[in-house]
Amino acid sequence: MIIEIEKEYEETIEQIAEYVRSLNCRPDILYGDLYTVIAVEGDASRQDSDFIENFQGVVRTWRISSPYKTIARKVVGDQSEKIERDRRIVRVPGPDGHVRQFKDDHFVFLAGPCAVESYDQTVAIAEGLARLADRYDIRDRLILRGGAFKPRTRPWDFRGLGEEGLEILDKARDITGLPYATEVMSVIQVDLIAAHADMFQIGTRNFQNFNLLERVGLAQKPILYKRGIAAELDEWLSAAEYIALQGNKDIVLCERGVKSTTHGDYNRSHLDLDVVPAVRDRTILPIIVDPSHSAGYAALVPYQFCAASVFRANGAMVEVITDEIERKSIRCDARQAVRLSEFEKMIQFQLKIEEIGISFTGHD
Ligand code: PEP
Ligand code: MN
Repeated sequence: MIIEIEKEYEETIEQIAEYVRSLNCRPDILYGDLYTVIAVEGDASRQDSDFIENFQGVVRTWRISSPYKTIARKVVGDQSEKIERDRRIVRVPGPDGHVRQFKDDHFVFLAGPCAVESYDQTVAIAEGLARLADRYDIRDRLILRGGAFKPRTRPWDFRGLGEEGLEILDKARDITGLPYATEVMSVIQVDLIAAHADMFQIGTRNFQNFNLLERVGLAQKPILYKRGIAAELDEWLSAAEYIALQGNKDIVLCERGVKSTTHGDYNRSHLDLDVVPAVRDRTILPIIVDPSHSAGYAALVPYQFCAASVFRANGAMVEVITDEIERKSIRCDARQAVRLSEFEKMIQFQLKIEEIGISFTGHD
């Protein structure tokens, strides 16, 4: 429900906010020029519009029609006027004192191994990334990634080191100062991963695991939330609403390619970049792109990375190896990992684009 209140009735705003909280709902207060608007987030059946309309200064109330009320960018009024919510800035602080921010016109780099396979491998990659962060002065926007719990298509494939993997990531963070994101696959892993990681990752296979979404929504940690392998935009955003409804709006959406026509040995899924402006238009949440899983082949990853940047994504996540020799030994997603030297060129591309300062604003 949306409640429109005349600006000067500050006491009413407070009283209604209190009433909303007493219903176990959340008031999202938006201050406009003429009116203050309270967007009520939570179970709509409990909200009594007649009761609310009796407060002094209340102009009117109406129901939010968007299927994802908590994260919708535009709230349409009963006379078709639109109220725009501010975009969510998602912050990931690191032990190095820098806060990574997912926000407008700001590009965050996430990189690391697909899976944490050993201490030496993970720390070597993290150190390589930290060197790049310092060389290009992008420490405040570089996050390490790596899976300790790996969802694998076949059960006999390497499924990650589990808790030991988290401990290795902790050490890599201690050594480099970089915060890290890692995948949570199940409700029973949430507390363990929350005790270690700086950011949860929810993978494509779990995009509609509603119990997991609600559970991570209760944990006060940012969430990197991937699109399902064949998810429609509405399904994806409605599922994100499950997380946000629990009170955690620190969600970064991640487009990682969808099932469609693929070209044999040339790609793995189909990168749907059109979804980036659509998400920006529909929601307050930032969106990044994962060219590694969409491309599936190292040779294709840099091009998709650059395209994501041009589409004004808020960042990209790339799987990396330190050098070509490593490709032969790693047990997870070896084909798509790019060398750190190649990742460096992607950083250079992004910084160049920022320096030139061209951005198309056709959509919003
Ligand atoms: C990953 O990031 O390593 C991963 C398993 O991704 P996805 O869920 O997109 O397949
Ligand atoms: Mn992977």
